[in-house]
Amino acid sequence: MPTLRINVPVRYVIRPRARRVSLRIDAAKREVIVVLPRARDRKRAEDLVRDKASWLEEHLSHWPLPMPFIPGGVILFRGKEFVLAHEIGRGAAHEADNRLIVPCPEAASFSGRTRRALITLARENLTTQAQLHADALGVEFSALSVRDTASRWGSCSAAGRLNFSWRLICTPPEVLDYVCAHEVAHLIEHNHGPRFWALVDGRVGDSKPHKRWMRDNSARLFAVGAEA
Ligand SMILES: [Zn+2]
Repeated sequence: MPTLRINVPVRYVIRPRARRVSLRIDAAKREVIVVLPRARDRKRAEDLVRDKASWLEEHLSHWPLPMPFIPGGVILFRGKEFVLAHEIGRGAAHEADNRLIVPCPEAASFSGRTRRALITLARENLTTQAQLHADALGVEFSALSVRDTASRWGSCSAAGRLNFSWRLICTPPEVLDYVCAHEVAHLIEHNHGPRFWALVDGRVGDSKPHKRWMRDNSARLFAVGAEA
């Protein structure tokens, strides 16, 4: 097997409906996925990984380093680098001088506590901003949920349900606000036509820099909380 300069797991997936052996990098799961139609294509799949080794190395060398939830670890939070700090105790996580202090009774639960704290902060922020845009546009959403979505940062269902990634709490506040305005505008315009963009831009100004930030930083967002 080729040794990749950067240690990233390679996962082989058998998918009978696949027409050929193919390979891609999964930014959300932070792994290389090789799809093969049949188990007996394994050797060909391994050859493909070897043939593509330099391509993979090139792509993975730009891969952001994992930002695990450990005391003293640096994570992306509200678009800036924050140092995680452990405080023995209970209560809500709080910010102080570019530090995010996460109280928890023992160090073993720090990672889980930090994740939950970020989800809570994300839900509070997203709800406030979505409500602001909904009020301004004179619409209502039926529910708002926050998860670890893999393919979309936000979505809006036909039933008026808004769904967001908790990772948006890691983006600059104006980018989080843009994603909220975007999904709320879908309550009125269920498309990406000129009327839709007029609604969004009417709420947040020019949305292009925010779209660009999301595109340029998506791999960094997925690195938040990834294991070292
Ligand atoms: Zn959209």
